[in-house]
Amino acid sequence: MKNKHFFTFFVTLLLFVSCSDKTPVLLNRTEFALGTYCTVKIYGMSEGKANSALKEAFARLSKIESIASAKNPDSELFYVNENAYGNGVVAVSEELFALLYSGLFYSRLTEGAFDITLGAIVELWGIGTENARIPSPEEIAVAVENSGYEHLLLNEAELSVRFLKSGLKVDLGAFAKGYAADEMQRVLIEHGVENAIIDLGGDIITIGGNNGAGWRIGLTDPQNTGEVCAVLRVSDKAIVTSGDYERYFMHEGKRYHHIFDRNTGYPAESGLRSATVAFEHMGIHGAAIHADALSTAFFVMGKEKAVEFVSTFQQINYILIDDGLNFTFSEGLDLEIIK
Ligand code: FAD
Ligand code: MG
Repeated sequence: MKNKHFFTFFVTLLLFVSCSDKTPVLLNRTEFALGTYCTVKIYGMSEGKANSALKEAFARLSKIESIASAKNPDSELFYVNENAYGNGVVAVSEELFALLYSGLFYSRLTEGAFDITLGAIVELWGIGTENARIPSPEEIAVAVENSGYEHLLLNEAELSVRFLKSGLKVDLGAFAKGYAADEMQRVLIEHGVENAIIDLGGDIITIGGNNGAGWRIGLTDPQNTGEVCAVLRVSDKAIVTSGDYERYFMHEGKRYHHIFDRNTGYPAESGLRSATVAFEHMGIHGAAIHADALSTAFFVMGKEKAVEFVSTFQQINYILIDDGLNFTFSEGLDLEIIK
């Protein structure tokens, strides 16, 4: 407890312990994208090279947003959501197809705890927007009826998409940030970056090992979001957290947050306040998208189901924090609980 104010560099879901960095930051760039602040810090590299790496990484981020945003009327996904039912199939870019394919995979794997087709429910509640409200039970029933990955048809040969239900909407908010972080990692590594941190509003990738010291990442205390409740020491990992304490509103003492249970159409009530998943990336991109999909799924599943899920799939590191601030976490993590 006593050293909690030591952690000063606040980001959306996690906190970096910046003073532990062994290598001085060379370049640090933040942009607002994907509805959040996105920061990349590059350490120990020539300035010219770091600058061009950053430029290309942020251009990649912006390109992904233009494809995968469910909110932007000019995005490719928006067009799909408007046209994939009734008018036959919609042909999509390879990149959007790959995202949908991967999203469908995780939706099936988690039996809908993570489900990329909850757009109707997400829009109805409007959490995180100025239109946030508690919808009527009838409205919720309709949105639940209009959700479900079973109604999403992908044709790999044609790279096309078809919705089998009117009102179905794809929302990639639960894992496209992870994909974007993976892609930024790929760009940075292609530019020779060896030590860096990518943080897309809580979807974090660390590149390198901070000269052997590891990167220290603080986990936000869900009960007091200005503080950290644990510190994770990592190198070469993707670390992603889903929690109920960033996008929510309160009504009559009850919290209504942005991660939904498709079975009820209400914000998930699994007893968890946050679920963090960490994957080793070993210099190869692709870890953050897994961590992002699974952290959302675990948040919805709750502790017992998430632990059972992990027992059948190896090498998933997780930290689950429940509403009593109790921790459940996998072995093999360098985790210091400070509360
Ligand atoms: P996660 O748990 O990773 O994701 C939760 C989000 O996924 C929810 O907000 C919802 O969109 C969706 N979701 C809810 N329940 C489930 C579920 N059970 N399974 C699957 N998905 C679910 N935010 C803005 O405010 N404005 C923007 O313009 C905007 N544009 C974005 C564009 C892109 C490409 C992406 C990836 C995100 C964008 N966002 C935007 C943020 C987005 O709306 C989510 O709020 C954000 O991604 C939530 O991330 P998280 O890490 O907090 O939670
Ligand atoms: Mg997620």
